[in-house]
Amino acid sequence: MGPVLRLKRGHDRPRMHPWIFKGDVADVGAVDPGDAVTIVDSLGHFVGRGLFNPRPALCCRVLTRQDQAVDAAFLEARLREAIGRRRGEPLTRLVWSEGDGLPGLVVDRYGDVLAVQCLTLGMAKMRRAIVAGLRATVGDLPVFNADDAVSAALEGFTPERGWIDRPGSDEVVVDEDGARLRVRFGVGQKTGLYLDQRLNHRLVTEGAAGRAVLDAFAYTAGFACHALVRGATRAVCVESSPDALAGARDNLALNGVADRAELVSLNVFDELRQLERDGARFGLIALDPPPFARSRTAVDAAARGYKDINLRAMRLLDAGGRLATFSCSHHVSDAMFDDICRDAAFDAGVTLRVLARLTQAPDHPVLLTVPETGYLKGLLLEAV
Ligand code: SAH
Repeated sequence: MGPVLRLKRGHDRPRMHPWIFKGDVADVGAVDPGDAVTIVDSLGHFVGRGLFNPRPALCCRVLTRQDQAVDAAFLEARLREAIGRRRGEPLTRLVWSEGDGLPGLVVDRYGDVLAVQCLTLGMAKMRRAIVAGLRATVGDLPVFNADDAVSAALEGFTPERGWIDRPGSDEVVVDEDGARLRVRFGVGQKTGLYLDQRLNHRLVTEGAAGRAVLDAFAYTAGFACHALVRGATRAVCVESSPDALAGARDNLALNGVADRAELVSLNVFDELRQLERDGARFGLIALDPPPFARSRTAVDAAARGYKDINLRAMRLLDAGGRLATFSCSHHVSDAMFDDICRDAAFDAGVTLRVLARLTQAPDHPVLLTVPETGYLKGLLLEAV
């Protein structure tokens, strides 16, 4: 049965939720960091198996609650299930970590390239088996390693960035439901695109024709490209990362809409104030910031940040103008985000109708019992 991790008495959460923290652990046998352990409760009853790492506070993630080995065959079966839940689209998240029963692993498909992100030491150690399982399921595609440096540092492994064995093409152009976006492997954020926003790019820009658009926190101009392709009169994209701005410029040209777009390389907080001073007005604003609250303790400061940008964006809306506003902070709940936006609307003196509640694309499945799997929340609002 291999090394055993025994939970403290009363620490039963791992029966339903995959996360085990150091404070949940009574003792653990000799195990190489990243390897599998058998998890038992305080009475020695079997709970499940997971991958253990003594370094982070979140030291073990449960992979199975059945008495089965966590090996290459197990991984391949889980990958097959996850991929089987997708609809075979060429641009899609194939594996969403806990949401697909594979905590610590993200796999995205960009056309004929697979981008693999290992977020835990355990998954990183099993990378070869993961790649073999993926290829057995979707075909022998080139695989790009897109590990995240922050997670790797927390877990204590060297992040892999690059092709795993044979190289694929350094970039692909994907058709994201009507807009063309270029993905340059190894250059962008995440694995290349914010696939969680894929459906929202489309939804939010319905009716964009004839409107002036502000794409704030634009990254590679996903919202602006969709809006302009659909007939928006002009778009201002605000983004602070030079790499992202270069990608935005490229995507706007790729869609033949660069002549109607302006790129602004500034901090959104400052630029919103400047636009207000200039008396600018927009018919559609997308506000898609990075997670302001990366920890529970950062929630208050994050709430102030969200309120500030929302309040200022609301003041820039035309009559009938629309605001698509998002938060991807795990620690900001849907209800909290509603409250923040409501406060902002009161202060801005703007009445807003809720046209839609927005969330992450369905290829980022949410487990009701693992609320951390659902993180993206948004409101599509219209000034009354
Ligand atoms: N809307 C994008 C995703 C945005 S991710 C899409 O749909 O693809 C958030 C982006 O905000 C990142 O590209 C990051 O570089 C940028 N960013 C973070 N802080 C910023 C700030 N204060 N001002 C401007 N851009 C910022």
